[in-house]
Amino acid sequence: MSQKFKAMRGTHDILPDEAPVWRDIENRFVDICSRYGYSEIRIPIFEATELFERGTGFATDVVQKEMYTFPDKKGRNLSLRPEATPSVVRAHLEHSLGRKARVAKYFYIGPMFRYDRPGAGRYRQFHQVGIEVIGTSSPTADAETIQILWEFLKGIGLKDLKMRINTLGCKPCRVKYSEVLRGFLEDKLERLCGDCHDRFERNPLRVLDCKNRACKVVIAEAPDVTAILCDECVEHFDRVKGYLELAKIEFYVDPKLVRGLDYYTRTVFEVFHESAGVDSSLGGGGRYDELVEGVGGPSTPAVGFSAGLERIILALRAEKAPDDTGGGVDVYVAPMGDEATGVAYELASELRKTHAVWLEFDQRKLDRQLRSASKLGARYTAIIGSDEIARNVVRLKDMNSGEQHEVDRGEVAAWLRKHCGG
Ligand code: AMP
Repeated sequence: MSQKFKAMRGTHDILPDEAPVWRDIENRFVDICSRYGYSEIRIPIFEATELFERGTGFATDVVQKEMYTFPDKKGRNLSLRPEATPSVVRAHLEHSLGRKARVAKYFYIGPMFRYDRPGAGRYRQFHQVGIEVIGTSSPTADAETIQILWEFLKGIGLKDLKMRINTLGCKPCRVKYSEVLRGFLEDKLERLCGDCHDRFERNPLRVLDCKNRACKVVIAEAPDVTAILCDECVEHFDRVKGYLELAKIEFYVDPKLVRGLDYYTRTVFEVFHESAGVDSSLGGGGRYDELVEGVGGPSTPAVGFSAGLERIILALRAEKAPDDTGGGVDVYVAPMGDEATGVAYELASELRKTHAVWLEFDQRKLDRQLRSASKLGARYTAIIGSDEIARNVVRLKDMNSGEQHEVDRGEVAAWLRKHCGG
């Protein structure tokens, strides 16, 4: 039979043997966010296209080239979310959450969609975790954001990490720096790639982000943003760096770091993993003091990050063999014969209150069932045949030592609690 359907290009299935790793990483993210006082927010997968045009930025590659945009049956112009920040800000404003708390701290987990060219660590549906802090311009919030990203990635066991940070300055500094860059690039356009010609027109800062070798040579000589920063921006950045040093986070300043999205002001950061074979970041973010106003709210400073789960898992695999979590069960309940099926069903229901239990559905020989139990990584197999039923016992086989114990049927749950927790 020929295979008819395949997952769409740029999408992927997370199969049962991988899902425990995903769940574990997500749980660790929830845990660290909770410890820092962040609350979860769940936002829709699609929004009005205009939200991303105004939030993410009309001129960005994400909005211009990568959005899944479609009319719905009433002709509304919708897009699948390419990132979460504009949606979180929209929800924050729509529900007046800024009135409830002076500073709102959110985290989110979920799929994002970009019509990107698929490659290593690059998908069209990928998954991000992220946080947003809305309502403060304090450099401590920038440092906290960077610290959470760093501790999260370190906490899941990644070692070869590099944290790059930079500042783009406030809006007037950014405008000034754009002019300085435009002036510098003007007579070097013939050395830049086609995309950079566009970027030169739309947003010259983005030229600094180009991966093209020839462009990189030009960029290396470009003036740094630090040369034009106003005093407040210099002080803000110095304080961010100071707090990061207090938190013992290893970072370095890369004066050429800008980010793919246009809304950043002041602090920007990206974390890289050298050995993952991915030429791009695991996560990044920055301050976005203009975005809230840009999507129709009051002028409100904010900062946040997002990190890609696919790339994090690639990096973990590059560092160590994947954990053999395999799902695993505590007990495999093995009935032998028709009569035993009901007893096994009842026992499994009872044990599931405290243990992970796999119940054999079919009539199979005991040696086959034991083989399945080993494959599943069961600690014990509960064997129930006519002899056990007659004596009202269950035979518990320790799958590591091979030892067998006869336990009264009513005592099995207590026995297991004693011998394998739960
Ligand atoms: P961004 O929202 O562009 O700042 O990206 C934040 C993070 O999301 C990146 O560092 C990646 O880990 C992840 N990411 C962005 N685009 C993709 C993609 N097309 N496929 C997989 N991960 C992505």
